[in-house]
Amino acid sequence: MHRREFIKKSAQLSGLIIISPKIDFKLFDVYSEDELTGKRSPELYGKNFKLREEAYLQFNLMEKAAKESGYNIHVVSSYRSYSHQNAIWERKYKNYRSQGLSHEKTIEKIIRYSTIPGTSRHHWGTDLDIVDATKGIPHNPLAETHFNEGGRYRDFKLWLDEHSEKFGFYVVYTNAPDRKGFSYEPWHLSYKPLSKKMLEVYKTFDLKKILQSSKLMGSAHFSNELVEKYIKENILDINPDLLA
Ligand SMILES: [Zn+2]
Repeated sequence: MHRREFIKKSAQLSGLIIISPKIDFKLFDVYSEDELTGKRSPELYGKNFKLREEAYLQFNLMEKAAKESGYNIHVVSSYRSYSHQNAIWERKYKNYRSQGLSHEKTIEKIIRYSTIPGTSRHHWGTDLDIVDATKGIPHNPLAETHFNEGGRYRDFKLWLDEHSEKFGFYVVYTNAPDRKGFSYEPWHLSYKPLSKKMLEVYKTFDLKKILQSSKLMGSAHFSNELVEKYIKENILDINPDLLA
């Protein structure tokens, strides 16, 4: 039984009045560290992609509305586990190292677009990368130029700007000039009604310890400075609408 149900049941039985605590403790029961770091999969929905139920249902509605406006949404990526993210991490790590980059430069280069395993919002089942497949899918669908003026997804991007938030989906890594961390990702949307709460919980974890004690390729080079900057910029410097 979930804590909330338990409290409700207990209150019904005893006739007590429950006063809400200041901290929403039920969040901590719902989203564990293993779950938010991708090590334990939540219940996921979807056929060609995977999301949590509420995000999945809302996404279906947005997809339908897009279709009515002439856009055929294609999901490039949705839920990713820790091991999936680690496979991406290791592939990029080996690639940059083989080009002669130092460990520090390798990490710096990977974290322009890719996350350190355990810190991806794709672990949450609320975030996804989408494009419009109406005119086919190019070999590099997730490129900013496609979404900019004159790009193949420009009209779709304008449609998303106007409609996606009504369905709960927000751009995470915006093109705000003063934003740091990951580069602009117009394709990456997050289902705010769930992910805002998840970030609140995620922030309470000892992320520095989690990262420095991880046995990832290159994690011996996760200095205090690097990890602190990563948390501040890559994890927390996102669209302010997802924090408020
Ligand atoms: Zn993404």
